[in-house]
Amino acid sequence: MSKKNPALIIDLFKVRHNAQVISALCKQHGIQVAGVTKGFCAIPEVAEAMLEGGCTMLADSRVKNLQKLRESHFKVEHLLLRTPMLSEVDEVVQCADISLNSEIGTILALNAAAQRLGIQHKIILMIDVGDLREGIWPTQLPPTIEAILTCDHLLFEGIGCNLGCYGGVIPSLSNMQMLLDQKALIETHYHLPVKLVSGGNSSAIQLLNSGDMPRGVNHFRVGEAILLGRSTTDRYIVPGAYQDTIFIRAEVIECNWKPSVPIGRLGQDAFGHSRKFPDRGRRNRAILALGRQDISTTSGLVPFNPQIEILGATSDHVLLDVTAADQFYRAGDTLMFYPNYTAMLNAATSEYVEKEFI
Ligand SMILES: *Cc1c(COP(=O)(O)O)cnc(C)c1O
Repeated sequence: MSKKNPALIIDLFKVRHNAQVISALCKQHGIQVAGVTKGFCAIPEVAEAMLEGGCTMLADSRVKNLQKLRESHFKVEHLLLRTPMLSEVDEVVQCADISLNSEIGTILALNAAAQRLGIQHKIILMIDVGDLREGIWPTQLPPTIEAILTCDHLLFEGIGCNLGCYGGVIPSLSNMQMLLDQKALIETHYHLPVKLVSGGNSSAIQLLNSGDMPRGVNHFRVGEAILLGRSTTDRYIVPGAYQDTIFIRAEVIECNWKPSVPIGRLGQDAFGHSRKFPDRGRRNRAILALGRQDISTTSGLVPFNPQIEILGATSDHVLLDVTAADQFYRAGDTLMFYPNYTAMLNAATSEYVEKEFI
């Protein structure tokens, strides 16, 4: 039986192992780990591997992904990572036990939705400690807490921050301390217990190993470090974790010797770019049935075979220079690549890419 291409191949043993390594490290520091499933569109088999490895919650940024996870009846809390849209509050309180929030209006709407449906919903208040993505500015804390105190159908679970995503700010003792200062303020001034202090994502793991994580941070939301064994923001490799967990397999549909410079007057390519083509003579070129629709850019792909060079991609093709390869390629052969986080996410999202497990 021949396997379908292209495929995203996920080694569940290695994902489970990475979850184990990271959960154990975090546990030593009193931190519980929510496994973040958005990088693989919440495929239940992978979520399960995260839970078997010791994650105590599942987290995703999309309501649709949480609804998908619900169908597997995992016995852990489900956390919505992205600040809810006002237009989805009913779905949010139904599929998520907890959501991360940063807008008073949305918090009030979640409360009204929970009331309508006769349920309780937990919230974590996000505070911006410098990365300039989501989170209230610390000066907005008093009115926000006062609004939360009026919500009978919400349970205030704690506070959190996100770093390393938009601004690329690296988690540090000082920004973690900012978060803990807000906890102290909420507990002393409003007598509101702050159960969870959600200090961050994969980029916070290095701080644990360096010994600079202040006590009191007790919750992480981790995706990339479990899936790929590293954190891109700080170029950190998690000690003891696998980096070769996830692969992309694609099939050669043409292999031919051709000149390295296009022939004719050059305009812009299909994506509006003008390109320069150095003349390297005739080269052996392979074309893969994989394109930007599946992987968005080729910069996120590393070939298993280092003798292969990626020349570029169009919507449905990736072009390779295989002249230096010691292997002879022809149509029907398959090639393997390591994806980065973005390529993995795109491949997981593309309905044209098969999902395979080892
Ligand atoms: C995606 C996301 C995470 C997980 O980030 P990783 O770098 O993959 O660990 C954590 N928190 C929030 C709010 C997110 O959106």
